Amino acid sequence: MTPTLLITGGSRGIGAATARLAAQRGYAVCISYLRNKSAAEAVVDDILALGGRAMAIAADVGIETEVIRLFGAVNAQFGSISALVNNAGILEQQMRVDQMDAARLLRIFTTNVVGSFLCAREAVRRMSSRYGGSGGAIVNLSSGAARLGAPGEYVDYAASKGAIDTFTIGLAREVADEGIRVNAVRPGVIYTEIHADGGEPQRVDRLKATVPMQRGGQAEEVANAILWLLSDEASYVTGAILDVTGGR
Ligand code: NAP
Repeated sequence: MTPTLLITGGSRGIGAATARLAAQRGYAVCISYLRNKSAAEAVVDDILALGGRAMAIAADVGIETEVIRLFGAVNAQFGSISALVNNAGILEQQMRVDQMDAARLLRIFTTNVVGSFLCAREAVRRMSSRYGGSGGAIVNLSSGAARLGAPGEYVDYAASKGAIDTFTIGLAREVADEGIRVNAVRPGVIYTEIHADGGEPQRVDRLKATVPMQRGGQAEEVANAILWLLSDEASYVTGAILDVTGGR
């Protein structure tokens, strides 16, 4: 049976690279996105053109009803899911903590943390042997920022990724004997459009000298780690947090 993978935020960046690689590895791929329909459709079209199965659905991971609708749509079109990548994540304009307001903090934590919890909840309800499911794997996108704190840039974002690390460990242990593995990847500085949202599109090039490998990473290099964690090659790996940071 074709394994089905849902990647939140699969229209661009790391999510899009993961979708393309997953399709090559034989997954039927569903990507969700927030508002960039043309980018999402381009990823789907590329996969279909290569003979794969793919679909895209607009759904805000931070809104519970939209998450429920998203999982219902995947079930209806592709059947039960066997893998989830909690990839959708945001950051905002670089600033100090003493400049942040509550509205911003709620946006960051709602998308990055609440969204990951809600999607994992729906996945567990479908994958867990407790619910009659046949198991599965979840990969959460953390960040090297969870270790470094992102001072002067976005401590809120870094803290939301710290929450993802703890969430990964806790959920992994909670469902370990129900056929579900839960792991995280912590990318370092990766060439995607997310840095423009912080007001610094060239951020990776500014920071690459601080990376022991002396370069930024590519989305495909993160996708490789995600696909390995999802695969049977990682069959005894759960609750792990894998740095994909060039040593940073
Ligand atoms: P990106 O290029 O900015 O892409 C973000 C993706 O998430 C887009 O597909 C976007 O959809 C989607 N999205 C945003 N908010 C959403 C929401 N509320 N509901 C559903 N989808 C939403 O980001 P990226 O750099 O690939 O990052 C992917 C993940 O890796 C994030 O969790 C990020 O924190 C993490 N990460 C990235 C880096 C890095 O250096 N790039 C480093 C560490 C960790 P639209 O296209 O519709 O806007």
